[in-house]
Amino acid sequence: MTKPSRKISPPDDSEKLAAQIIEMMMTYGQAQFGDAVKSYWVYTDDLCPGCRKRPIDAIIFKGKEGLAMNSFIYRERGVLIGYLLCGQCAKGIYEATPRSDDELHQNIERNLIAAYQRYLASLNA
Ligand SMILES: [Zn+2]
Repeated sequence: MTKPSRKISPPDDSEKLAAQIIEMMMTYGQAQFGDAVKSYWVYTDDLCPGCRKRPIDAIIFKGKEGLAMNSFIYRERGVLIGYLLCGQCAKGIYEATPRSDDELHQNIERNLIAAYQRYLASLNA
């Protein structure tokens, strides 16, 4: 038995990946937030929303390779936003001390909201 070495590499697979993420989010989001969720959106930029420096990448987490899939509810709009992180930020989320975790979360939320607003603006253009 060899370890699977499949690499998921946005942007090539980002559409397929986004569809998978939305499916997961719909199940999770309804259970978690109920009627607060009006729609779903997935952040598919190349750069990690945590640091805006590194590309989103597969990470090794507890010996398993996986994407750091997360979601955040933008309550003002009722949008559940799914996102992936780079390996560094994902480690930060899962292993951080509470204080650095907070700062990282704030960066992520700010970047996600900005990206979502850019997306909305692009629809109106
Ligand atoms: Zn990052």
